Amino acid sequence: MPIVNLAALAAAVAAAVPAQQEPPAAPVEPVAPQEAPAQPIPAPQISPRQPARSRAIGLPFRGRLAGGVPFPPQGPAFATWDPVLKRSPNRLWRRYATVRTVARILALLETYQQAHPTAPRVLVGDLSLPRGGPFGRRYGGLGHASHQNGLDVDVYYPRLDRLETAPRRAEQVDQVLAQDLVDLFLQAGAEKVFVGPNLELEGPREKVIPLVYHDDHLHARFGR
Ligand SMILES: [Zn+2]
Repeated sequence: MPIVNLAALAAAVAAAVPAQQEPPAAPVEPVAPQEAPAQPIPAPQISPRQPARSRAIGLPFRGRLAGGVPFPPQGPAFATWDPVLKRSPNRLWRRYATVRTVARILALLETYQQAHPTAPRVLVGDLSLPRGGPFGRRYGGLGHASHQNGLDVDVYYPRLDRLETAPRRAEQVDQVLAQDLVDLFLQAGAEKVFVGPNLELEGPREKVIPLVYHDDHLHARFGR
């Protein structure tokens, strides 16, 4: 078995991720009239050992993300999926979230992989933009009404044919594996999981909610 050089792997991942990648045509944020005039802001004092504060601001439908971090492009248990370009990995600027959201998803995906070691990797789709805010149609595809403050994530259901690509129809979904994903998101603290109305995924009625356009992916929303 080849020995994986973790240091080299980490360096390769770091090199593959551009330091400053911004979404195209990022909306210009108007300055809110009630905001104080610009004043000199002291440089943030963050020691290398102290992680930057990561905060979900406002609501999933009307919010922002401060100190967000990108979800990794891929790992042993998952790959990311670009819902507009229909390819993996998803573009960096589409997968920011709070540190806590990223950590929760990574942990539950690891649990999933341990439970299903021969299953294909899970495809993680859009999270939030680097600074959150509106993530609508201007970013391609249907866009998102929510996904604005680093607490939302889309995850594609595993396919019956085990292909590592997003399903297109409910009939292509492995509902046993999909249900396990729903359960793991709830155990990880998701407050809402939106699922396809043509699937038979179950859970507490106030948390697992059928919603149109969710026959190919579930949408999980964490609390802060
Ligand atoms: Zn979503």
